[in-house]
Amino acid sequence: MKIGILGAGQLGRMLALAGYPLGFEFAFLDPATEACAAPLGEHLRADYLDLAALEKFCAGIDLATFEFENVPQQAAEFVAARTPLFPAPRALTSGQDRLSEKQMFVAQGIPVPKFAAVSSRIGLEAAAQHTGLPAVLKTRRMGYDGKGQYVLRSAADFDAAWAQLGAQQLILESFVPFEREVSCLAVRGRDGEVKFYPLVQNVHRSGILRTARPRNGDPLQALGEEYARRILQHLDYVGVLAFEFFVADGGLLANEIAPRVHNSGHWSIEGAECSQFENHLRAIAGLPLGSTALRGESLMVNFIGSAPALEAMAALEGVHVHLYGKQPKPLRKIGHATLTAPDSATLEARLRRLEPLLDQDG
Ligand code: AMP
Repeated sequence: MKIGILGAGQLGRMLALAGYPLGFEFAFLDPATEACAAPLGEHLRADYLDLAALEKFCAGIDLATFEFENVPQQAAEFVAARTPLFPAPRALTSGQDRLSEKQMFVAQGIPVPKFAAVSSRIGLEAAAQHTGLPAVLKTRRMGYDGKGQYVLRSAADFDAAWAQLGAQQLILESFVPFEREVSCLAVRGRDGEVKFYPLVQNVHRSGILRTARPRNGDPLQALGEEYARRILQHLDYVGVLAFEFFVADGGLLANEIAPRVHNSGHWSIEGAECSQFENHLRAIAGLPLGSTALRGESLMVNFIGSAPALEAMAALEGVHVHLYGKQPKPLRKIGHATLTAPDSATLEARLRRLEPLLDQDG
């Protein structure tokens, strides 16, 4: 079976790495010249809206998926009209606009931080009346890794925030003094079978994910699963979905969903019985889903901007290195390592050995 992937970044690369043992082949469509999944399959280098290229892409594959959530809706619909596309275009677009995404959460009875749409400078004042301060001003579209965000601490910040972001459609959210951040990784098959990974605890710095650690027995597991299940059913979703939450006042507030495999699930390659990448492929190919059980303790550390020397990491026990073949660049995710251990004390000891190798960006 040949699977077409819209996007050829590291998520596409890891999908393909998970798919070859199952006998799948891959084709990617991505406009980037340095597409890091390209060595793992056929790469059609074209714009997502190049209809001739999309036609060619669809002609050579059995089914399609995406690893980049900002694939234009028109491209997704074009592909879906020619070949099975999972998740469906509606699921792709549900997370592209932060405003309609939040409205979807509200309609599904899922709590969210206070929010208001902002489309003018005066509207910013009104929105801040509703959310209170501090608040986070965000672009409604195309924001990722903390880009397109401005934290407003007082009215004195409004002008600078507006100067930076005001050219786009915006959303203002109340700043959540969260206790921690967690994500629920869920997978739903073509027959409606659903599985959940244990909740993952995530640490961000400057809006970028730094570490992700799955834990069995989180007291919020059942609630996270319930909220994720509502979205999976609402979107008639097929594949892996990541749902990011803030933990506040002992409950969950929805931040955002990613309709794809997610950085907070990379630990699952070594840390789960079946990784998020293999489970996404199983789901879209109509296979039974694999076990989401943990194999032991694990923790993922992202390499941001640069990565430690491979020789130094290779000398460490329980450290599994993934380099994406991307050029180092400030704030760019260029790889990750998953630490595994039989128990949490050993895991923490292994992290202490890796930490001195990480530079402050990572
Ligand atoms: P996002 O791109 O919306 O996921 O934001 C990236 C990160 O910025 C989140 O994971 C949080 O660490 C932080 N952040 C975003 N929105 C808020 C908020 N409303 N309150 C507090 N922190 C936030």
